[in-house]
Amino acid sequence: MKIHFPRNWIDDLFNRVDIVELVSEYVPLNKRGANYWALCPFHNEKTPSFSVNREQSLYYCFGCGKGGGVVQFVMEMEKLTFPEALEYLAGKCQLALPANMSYEDEQASSLRERLYELNQEAAKYYHNLLWTDTGAAVLKYFRNRGIDDGTIRRFGLGASSDSWDNISDAMQEKGYTTEELVKAGIIAQKENHSYDVFRGRAMFPILNMYGKVLGFGGRIIGDGQPKYLNTSDTAIFNKRYGVYGANLLRKQRRLERILLVEGYMDVISLSQAGIQGAVATLGTALTSEQARFMKRFSEEIHIAYDGDEAGQRATERAIEILRGEGLTAKVLSFPDELDPDSFIRERGVEAFNELKPLTDIEFTLNRIKSKTDISTQDGRLTYANKAAEVLALIKSPLELETYLKKLCLETGFSTEALMAQIKIAGSQLKVKYRSLARGEYRRSTAQVKPKYALSAEEELLSILSSKLLPEGFLSAEDFISPLCKTIASELLDDKYPAIIISQLDEEDERNWAARLFSKEHKYNEESALSAAESCLSVLQRARLEKKIDELNERLKLAEDYDRQSLITQLQEATMQLTEIKSK
Ligand SMILES: [Zn+2]
Repeated sequence: MKIHFPRNWIDDLFNRVDIVELVSEYVPLNKRGANYWALCPFHNEKTPSFSVNREQSLYYCFGCGKGGGVVQFVMEMEKLTFPEALEYLAGKCQLALPANMSYEDEQASSLRERLYELNQEAAKYYHNLLWTDTGAAVLKYFRNRGIDDGTIRRFGLGASSDSWDNISDAMQEKGYTTEELVKAGIIAQKENHSYDVFRGRAMFPILNMYGKVLGFGGRIIGDGQPKYLNTSDTAIFNKRYGVYGANLLRKQRRLERILLVEGYMDVISLSQAGIQGAVATLGTALTSEQARFMKRFSEEIHIAYDGDEAGQRATERAIEILRGEGLTAKVLSFPDELDPDSFIRERGVEAFNELKPLTDIEFTLNRIKSKTDISTQDGRLTYANKAAEVLALIKSPLELETYLKKLCLETGFSTEALMAQIKIAGSQLKVKYRSLARGEYRRSTAQVKPKYALSAEEELLSILSSKLLPEGFLSAEDFISPLCKTIASELLDDKYPAIIISQLDEEDERNWAARLFSKEHKYNEESALSAAESCLSVLQRARLEKKIDELNERLKLAEDYDRQSLITQLQEATMQLTEIKSK
């Protein structure tokens, strides 16, 4: 029996499970290049050929050819069936199971679909309003902030009108009910009358990583309270999960670092300036859910909050959360109370790129020092004690020594005394251990390399998954093999490779596809396009050769009255082939 798991639910699950974390519960992983490597848990080996790709959420063993996504991995390791594996993973990340869905749950699932549509329509409406008289003040605001029209379109920015029932009327005309509008957080109800939540605001649609509109942020134009307003939590929007800019993260591959900024405008102006990987939290302090989400795209986070006291305190908290999730946190500080947006506008991109981030330790030490008066003996003692707690976190002896020397100079205590203090602080630290050991390694399975596609098709699929090709450049019909056609059409439908793979029926097919998507490639937009073009011409050639073979076969058996038409077709195909070959 095939149980139906709704696409949204599966997207949600894959969004929450980190394959690197999952696999490292079974085998220790080491990062090398873009991938993580381990000794394969499925066959016996001495050098690691088992690779895990966090971005694609896939694993593949170059030794035994086994591959797949998080679902296949737990199926193999825990000996589970497909639905059991989904249940197992859902349990790990506290996601309610669609198989156990009651009637109410199913209603909820169709409500979610409806809310996504409604938000999409509302975003379109706000965006169109921006270019009318109603949106003039907001448009002026964006332009004053240096945002150009291309960026406005790319982020789908918009304007809400001053009126109390503008969006509500427009959406009801499109067939949405008051109840649905309330559930989407677009209108609010008070004592039997309803009104637009966002009025007279610059509108920022908040998208998930798949580009669906979850909700909105609105900044007041002119006077009014509050200055910033976000959609309250709804059936599809939860401020603890996700970040502003999530959809862009997915398109930016191999980020060296993610820039965590305070505001939506920071994300937008950094992106306009060509600085990749900027995200902001959704009007709340950073949560560990958001940290785990970012970890999928990069393990190094540069915090670029505002220079004021509130921003600095938020930075301290963010460092703790990031550290707790095993991420490397660094801090960019801006001179003269500037924020990333104003810094870019005043000093330019080059100056931004030259900013040197502080390590989390440096930042924390500076903070402690700024709050202590180290001109007194008491102050120096307090500072040394607190600094020791921070330094106890450092694992590298060389790194530790650098800070230690500095601390000696600042406090006047000897290295020995400081070191002793650090040891005391260290023994009080709770250290988390992860159980890495996992007993028996499974017997090697024979390496299977089924021929599912021409290598040009494989290459083309892999380019397609890189999202570097212009929209509409490829269609599923460009592929020859039925399996490739299916995969291509799902990729074009914006499905995640790991999800596509988990839905393939045959294990061999899954292994084949996992290998395909695990390959590292070094394309940029230009080279992806030219590589795709040459793959296409190889495929066209293959298609013609196949056609010529078929025509020749048919010609052998053809009746007289058929021959002429077959010969004409054969000539045409041969001519086309010669033409392609001569290119
Ligand atoms: Zn293996």
